[in-house]
Amino acid sequence: MTSHSIVIHAGTLLANAGEAPKTKQSLLIEGGRIKEVSSGFVAPPQDAKLVDLSDKFVLPGLIDCHVHLTGQFDRGYRMRMVEDSDPKIGFNAAHNASLTLAAGFTTVRDVGALGNPDVIFALRAAIAEKKVAGPRVLCVGDILSPTGGHGQTYGYRHDVCACVQSTSGICDGIDECRRAVRRQVSQGADAIKFVATGGVLSDIKAGLDQQFTTDEIRTIIETAHNLGRRVAAHAHGAAGINAALEAGVDSIEHGSFMDDRSIELFLAKGAFHVPTIIAGVTASEMAEREGELPPAMAEKARIVGKKIKEALSRSHKAGVTIAFGTDMGVGPHGQNAREFGLLVEAGMSPREAIHAATINAAKLLNISDEAGTIAAGKTADVIAVDSSPLENVAVLERVSFVMSRGDVFRSAN
Ligand SMILES: [Zn+2]
Repeated sequence: MTSHSIVIHAGTLLANAGEAPKTKQSLLIEGGRIKEVSSGFVAPPQDAKLVDLSDKFVLPGLIDCHVHLTGQFDRGYRMRMVEDSDPKIGFNAAHNASLTLAAGFTTVRDVGALGNPDVIFALRAAIAEKKVAGPRVLCVGDILSPTGGHGQTYGYRHDVCACVQSTSGICDGIDECRRAVRRQVSQGADAIKFVATGGVLSDIKAGLDQQFTTDEIRTIIETAHNLGRRVAAHAHGAAGINAALEAGVDSIEHGSFMDDRSIELFLAKGAFHVPTIIAGVTASEMAEREGELPPAMAEKARIVGKKIKEALSRSHKAGVTIAFGTDMGVGPHGQNAREFGLLVEAGMSPREAIHAATINAAKLLNISDEAGTIAAGKTADVIAVDSSPLENVAVLERVSFVMSRGDVFRSAN
């Protein structure tokens, strides 16, 4: 931690993923912000600290638009749901946040808290106040779900479910949907997330198709927009994807079964696709390991695993704007950058994948004036790797330097 100014010498700097990288650049950082970007290795002013990244590739801090910091899905998950107190979940979430920051992700959007949503709101505040290390957090509070929908807890006695589940996001009918959005906003939600369709990791045989009615979807989106909040729709089946897009949703998360109509709507409305391929891959691998997933989940995981990557190939080829998201909490926190390799396998160039995790993600999260590029006036969220990710995107899995809001969190030396 320091309030002194810092000068970074960047061997190669990709300040903006939409432009070519430049060699030998200097960044002047003051008060947690980028003050100036200049050519050549500028000598630090008196009292300033020099950070020598002259043999590194430097780029903006990465942004993950889809994580669940309060949970980690694995074999022990179902027991922890009934064992862990809110404070325990909070400490776990703080640990997950620090793993995520160490991996070079300086901003995340948490799209659904496990249990009590106060935990993620408290973590967001503790990180903002620099009491706990972690990426900048934007969060949605509770996921909005109809009764029996993907956002509900299953698999225990009903009275036990009622104990572990926060019910503030369960809503049926237009009035309750409107109230549920307003309740999340009143509790501090930065954005709203709802389940337009069924999902893989809910232990119920309810398919992957539309769950809220079209009227309910319209109400959720309209109410959220009136309160100045962006809306993310969890959606696999085409009917749910299309109903959400028609109603003006800002992003479709997953998008596994998108069809021709979905592509038309994405383009016409300017909505983002957040593909989360790594979550589909992780869940389908778990489905192959005997006993790891209950039958209702395993059946859905096998179907979605393949589809989710095809969906990204299709949306990317058609020119849909892609924003980076991993659904970590399904996969292990801190391994977010594995998504880059999958995006490239599905047809994106490394530069496009980095664009999705910086400029596009900042746009979707409505924080372009703070993050997404390295430029004068923006927050000093800066990372470095040992070689060019434009040649081999997998180097982003081994980040060697992380600066978050002007503080060096992970040092290169
Ligand atoms: Zn998710």
